[in-house]
Amino acid sequence: MNDCIFCKIAAGTIPARKLFEDEAILAFHDATPQAPVHFLLIPRKHIPNILELGPEDEGLLERLLNKARELAVEQGCGEGGARFVINCKADGGQSVDHLHVHVLGGRALGWPPG
Ligand code: 5GP
Ligand code: ZN
Repeated sequence: MNDCIFCKIAAGTIPARKLFEDEAILAFHDATPQAPVHFLLIPRKHIPNILELGPEDEGLLERLLNKARELAVEQGCGEGGARFVINCKADGGQSVDHLHVHVLGGRALGWPPG
């Protein structure tokens, strides 16, 4: 997807502060952090949102969430905890239409969301 900002980050044509990458997924710091720890995990493949995962994507969510967990601990959230969020489409507050997992931590977060 040519005009997708996260595809461009995955391709390396837009810079990002990367935490991890392999052949299938990528993790990088959010450009507008909402907490002391705030990073994103994406698949390299352009999948618009979680509702559009298909059978061919089996294992991808588990891979994203396992790496999210590992990196959350690495980033210092092992004791205090963190929030793992996937926003989806308009009602879910998604602003970038490329599936991504947010990890937020380093402070107490409110609930429920507004
Ligand atoms: P959403 O609202 O779609 O769940 O989250 C999109 C996230 O992507 C936002 O937290 C936003 O700050 C982040 N973001 C948008 N554009 C960029 C960018 O170019 N680089 C990085 N690192 N984060 C971005
Ligand atoms: Zn994309």
